Amino acid sequence: MKITAVHTSMLRVPNNPPVSTYYRENRYVVARIQTDEGLEGLGYTMLVGGAGAEAVRAYLETSLAPQLIGENPLHVGLLWQKMYDTDRGIRKKGIPVYAISALDIGLWDLLGKSMDRPVWQLLGACAEKIPVYGSGGFLSYSVDQIVKEAEGFLGLGCRHYKMKIGLPRLMENVERVRAVRKALGDDVELLVDANQRWDVATHLKVGRRLEEFDLFWYEEPVLADNIAQCAEVARALRIPIATGENEYTRYGFRDLIEQKAARYLNPDIHRCGGIGELVKISHLAAAYDLPIAPHLVPELSIHVMVSIPNAALVEVLAGSPSELWREPVEVVRGMMAAPNRPGHGMEFSADAIKRYAE
Ligand SMILES: [Mg+2]
Repeated sequence: MKITAVHTSMLRVPNNPPVSTYYRENRYVVARIQTDEGLEGLGYTMLVGGAGAEAVRAYLETSLAPQLIGENPLHVGLLWQKMYDTDRGIRKKGIPVYAISALDIGLWDLLGKSMDRPVWQLLGACAEKIPVYGSGGFLSYSVDQIVKEAEGFLGLGCRHYKMKIGLPRLMENVERVRAVRKALGDDVELLVDANQRWDVATHLKVGRRLEEFDLFWYEEPVLADNIAQCAEVARALRIPIATGENEYTRYGFRDLIEQKAARYLNPDIHRCGGIGELVKISHLAAAYDLPIAPHLVPELSIHVMVSIPNAALVEVLAGSPSELWREPVEVVRGMMAAPNRPGHGMEFSADAIKRYAE
């Protein structure tokens, strides 16, 4: 089998509340990998808020796709390395790795389709399903709205819920967490996410006050570029730190692990380097007994999550558009199973392509 073409396109997908109060839309960069045997692999990545989508598409089209033409798509590892080695003048963080991720996802899809097996079976399953955490609690929401949203997730059987911190009046964050903890009770695991908002001193001030609420994790405290500062927060607080959504490849995660920056790692399949790279990152972390909990695109990361020994949780974001997929993944009794269809098993619905194509 040979790759004959890579066709790219983009989808502009509006967000529902509460995400729409931060980001009006997300954009998908889609790469359809065509072969001489008629099989097609669907690769894609997603840009939260949409910024950078044109750049990802341009890099994918001009630098990466030409590397794949004429190659055997079943040599997924070889092709990943070829894409990674394409430009020695660009460090593999950010935009180039989003583009590599999209194509790697398409290649794994092709591999699975060619063998008539879902990706999770090719990876060697460790579990049938993984617990889901509900995610939302945006700063634009009142406490009442947050509690209502959390109760929706608890109704789906979830036992974990994540809310944002980062309001400028510092003690307001503490009061909101206190109120949500009180409303949900002690049986619910509560997670907070700072989205890189404050400096170390502010985290020590707020984080120490949050310790009494028995939080499950405290996510992405400082700028993702400053791993040493994340490690400083991790050493100072009793709450376990989670980070990694803005980190790339096994090398980035090696640095997080070596510097003891977090006790939960959040590699995201659509930007850390794709399916194969998420597997490598997960196995590296397993050697340190560090749990993995990816963000966003759960329909893809679930394939890896059921295939690693150190899977913790899969994120499901409040307000995710459900009409995007022909067959969406579902949360059943708080758990998610991987699609049981050849490849990664996902395809955009005809309606979504019609409505959201740019
Ligand atoms: Mg986050």
